[in-house]
Amino acid sequence: MSCEQCMDLCVKYVIRQPEQLRKAIRIAKHALSEGILFEINSADNWNQYSFQECAEKMIWGDIVDYHFVCKHCGTQFVLGAETYHGSGGYWSPENEKPSEIFD
Ligand SMILES: [Zn+2]
Repeated sequence: MSCEQCMDLCVKYVIRQPEQLRKAIRIAKHALSEGILFEINSADNWNQYSFQECAEKMIWGDIVDYHFVCKHCGTQFVLGAETYHGSGGYWSPENEKPSEIFD
């Protein structure tokens, strides 16, 4: 499913600590700046901050729910966490191809 470009990103990375969330944010930010991924907006937007703001200032709201897609093969990725309840989250590829891309 994934391609050479996003192969390294095709891992499920479990987030339990703020430091792990920061790491996942840095990974996504790097992939965006390299032009591998671009961000897509889901229909339900729970984020208090745009990903750009989140990545630049390392701030996030109670719910983190950012979605990305590989520019080369269409694999989707999600960075999700529920920071308020402390139940953590994950970085992970999603299986389905994007049905719709929202601007
Ligand atoms: Zn790819």
